[in-house]
Amino acid sequence: MKEQDHIAVFTAHPDDEGAVWATLYKHFEEENRVSIIWSTYGDKFIAPVKKYVHFLPLLIKATYSKKVRKELSEHIKIIRKTEALRVAKLINAIPYFLEFNDMQVPDKTNQEAIHKVTKLIREIKPSIILTHWFREMHRDHKNTAALALKSYLLANKSDYMTETPPHKVRIFGFWDERGKGFRPNFYLNVSKQIDRIKELGKCYESQQFRIVGRFAKFNARRHSKKTPYKFVERFKIFGKKRLRKFGEFFP
Ligand SMILES: [Zn+2]
Repeated sequence: MKEQDHIAVFTAHPDDEGAVWATLYKHFEEENRVSIIWSTYGDKFIAPVKKYVHFLPLLIKATYSKKVRKELSEHIKIIRKTEALRVAKLINAIPYFLEFNDMQVPDKTNQEAIHKVTKLIREIKPSIILTHWFREMHRDHKNTAALALKSYLLANKSDYMTETPPHKVRIFGFWDERGKGFRPNFYLNVSKQIDRIKELGKCYESQQFRIVGRFAKFNARRHSKKTPYKFVERFKIFGKKRLRKFGEFFP
């Protein structure tokens, strides 16, 4: 029998994890443990369309009033947190929020942030970590990836002290994302799960006009060319040289 994995995703904002929904869905189907760790609530942005159209005047006011900006953030936070929790529920994922401010995810020089993430990794003990590409343009994405990478390395160091003992994570992977130098080295078969993306995407009503996953199916098909599969999600696995190039599960 295949050993059960625990897959943990570190992501900046609710809906960013959409880059790997099919992968998460697959692990959920296999009854693996799934955790999603959001750095922020994404409380600086809402799409003022459909049922959120009344946010438009507030969004405009917020550009010049600090008070409105703060109040608005509180509203958006509740909406986006609820949406994120809905997604987590659909794939039986355990949700975590690091509660950094939107657009202000600390960088990898911030010891407090590193400690928080390292501690969490040691507590939840994932076997696989997935995150943004660390050269992505968005600062929150880039910083989330760098924090996750540094903490993944520290989590296994015996001279780095936390209350929980060291933990070795087997696979650390960056998902497919804009930004310089992304060269995938592993293609995961998600042919049976690719259509589930739509379902999960619907949970993020407040982000409607930039729905993640709109091109996901098209890309998953395009990237599968050099594999035996029809649809794949592709990754850059950190620090592994001779890998199988593709598979049903992470190596
Ligand atoms: Zn984002």
